[in-house]
Amino acid sequence: MPFQSGRHFLQIPGPTNVPERILHAIAKSTIDHRGPEFARLTREVLGGLKKIFQTSGEVVIYPSSGTGAWEAALVNTLSPGDKVLMFETGHFAALWRNLAVRLGLKVDFVPGDWRQGVDPKVVEAMLAEDKSIKAVMVVHNETSTGVTSQVAEVRQAIDRAGHPALFMVDTISSLALTDYRHDEWGVDVSVGSSQKGLMLPPGIAFNVVSQKALAASKSARLPRSYWDWEAVISANQTGFFPYTPPTNLLFGLKEAIQMLLEKGLEDAFKRHNRWGEATRRAIRGWGLEINCLNPKEYSNAVTAVRMPEGQDADSLRKQILERFNLSLGNGLGKLQGKVFRIGHMGDFNDLMLAGTLSGVEMGLALSGIPFKKGGLQAAIDYLAGGD
Ligand code: PLP
Repeated sequence: MPFQSGRHFLQIPGPTNVPERILHAIAKSTIDHRGPEFARLTREVLGGLKKIFQTSGEVVIYPSSGTGAWEAALVNTLSPGDKVLMFETGHFAALWRNLAVRLGLKVDFVPGDWRQGVDPKVVEAMLAEDKSIKAVMVVHNETSTGVTSQVAEVRQAIDRAGHPALFMVDTISSLALTDYRHDEWGVDVSVGSSQKGLMLPPGIAFNVVSQKALAASKSARLPRSYWDWEAVISANQTGFFPYTPPTNLLFGLKEAIQMLLEKGLEDAFKRHNRWGEATRRAIRGWGLEINCLNPKEYSNAVTAVRMPEGQDADSLRKQILERFNLSLGNGLGKLQGKVFRIGHMGDFNDLMLAGTLSGVEMGLALSGIPFKKGGLQAAIDYLAGGD
């Protein structure tokens, strides 16, 4: 694409904008990853991550994207042929399912319409019927659909069924964006990554591990080597890693944790909730449809907008990118061409949201898509405090 003046608007639902403070932190000279300064860094980031995940459990850091941490969660806890329960909430749940199948697990995949989250009643009923299920796996925030499942309620459903299954949750696009409590919600393995709420570039991923998951790892027989928790946890005790860690990303992670904790997690949840609400008001104002059907499940982080019948989301996005230098998220999997996604997460503020929504409104007008003007105004009125 030829030169475009001004700042690019990166409003995909991750990777998100990386703030200057983090970019500067990453730009420091790489240090000896077997030296004392690095050991201090490891301890600091592990301590900080516990606050972000709201846990006192073990945190394992991998130099990988989120997919690696998905795999790590499974190979550390399960054995070939084990049965797991998963829910078709969208594209990422489907990808995690495919990974599980490839590893040799038997997946009971509850079908879904990509517009609703996990139904805790179904969890309870399925677990009550089948005591052989070894793990329940849920994507907390479905980045492909803008739907957030109720993790605490799923936990209660598992407890009502009195089932011993492990509970694994993908927090990749909910961490530091939506309240998430690893310990309180009895999660056994949380999967996270760097490139969304933590405002870092892609390249680091996490597992948070409960004592129950750690115990399961002792007898789990899926092959594992690089992903083995034990090797990382044991090396971390002295502040090191069993392989070369992503030193500069860890500098960035330390800064990100500091930034988030300066104002507190609650503040991060509140501001993302507000941007979600402003975005939804814009969409309703345009007369378009929000993909998420249930208001209780609206995502703080991303909103998927359904296109009017016969209109293609990808040509709208192309026009908006070329004309306004604004990147929006595409429809994934079954939603390809049917939705576009507005990412409202990470290093973001009211004016960036207003700019993003004005780009969408102008793009809708340019594309000749039938819509009502005034969505942007509704969002601005809300952001300005008026209603
Ligand atoms: N899970 C969710 C909810 C995601 O949004 C993503 C990526 O966007 C993934 C998993 C996969 O992570 P990665 O692309 O970092 O491997």
